[in-house]
Amino acid sequence: MLLQGQTALITGAARGIGKAIALKFAAEGANIAFCDIVIDDNALATKAELEQLGVKVLAMQGDVSSFESAADIVNQTVEAFGGIDILVNNAGITRDGLLVRMDEKAWDDVLRINLKSVYNYCHAAVPVMMKVRKGCIINVSSVAGLHGNAGQCNYSASKGAIVAFTRTLAKEVGPRNIRVNAVAPGFIITDMTMKMPEEVRKQWEASIPLRRGGTPEEIAKVCCFLASDLASYVSGQVVTIDGGMIA
Ligand code: NAD
Repeated sequence: MLLQGQTALITGAARGIGKAIALKFAAEGANIAFCDIVIDDNALATKAELEQLGVKVLAMQGDVSSFESAADIVNQTVEAFGGIDILVNNAGITRDGLLVRMDEKAWDDVLRINLKSVYNYCHAAVPVMMKVRKGCIINVSSVAGLHGNAGQCNYSASKGAIVAFTRTLAKEVGPRNIRVNAVAPGFIITDMTMKMPEEVRKQWEASIPLRRGGTPEEIAKVCCFLASDLASYVSGQVVTIDGGMIA
């Protein structure tokens, strides 16, 4: 198993891509700590599904945009599992609209939840990894952050900044044997994209060389590679997972 006995902390893992990453990591032997904005029946069902894979699971309520909550969740994880080997900054939202119609709240919410969260969790978890001179961080960006996407100024800005953050932090913590990478998914079928009108979804799918949206499991497989020793010399990279789409 690729992640036997390791501890992974994953944000926003109650559903979607985060849940798929948690399930893949657990199947590879990692204990899982995850947070989400609410620990409701759906989050508890995710926890139960993970436990069935025979690993230890900690599910915690927390808003990723809160600096204090991030510190608390990292502390709870360290107390429960003794450390953090892998951090996945996955939680994210969209509040789409053309710039001229985008109000300040839509801008602030997306930047707080998508970008400040990455700072919050890295700030709390990096010292834990530095102590043991080992760690791996995966930040979930998006093709929108690389190429832009009309109607997503806020989202694209947050995801582009995650790329710059990833490359910079990789340079800062590489000497402590901590690898930092990002993934940039394209069009992935989750609750986030199912909110789109069917017509828009079909247009997206037609523009993808593989002629379909990706699955959360297809993102999880690449994250598993990046988290594992198979990627022991990979750091500061952004891996695009988009079915060949050039946005
Ligand atoms: P999703 O909406 O299905 O899941 C997001 C999860 O994050 C949910 O469990 C949600 O409750 C949680 N979350 C939201 N706000 C939070 C907060 N403030 N604090 C804690 N948890 C919070 O979305 P998804 O499609 O699984 O997206 C996961 C990540 O992948 C996001 O960062 C998203 O931007 C990115 N992404 C998705 C796609 C796609 O096509 N679905 C493409 C590129 C990138």
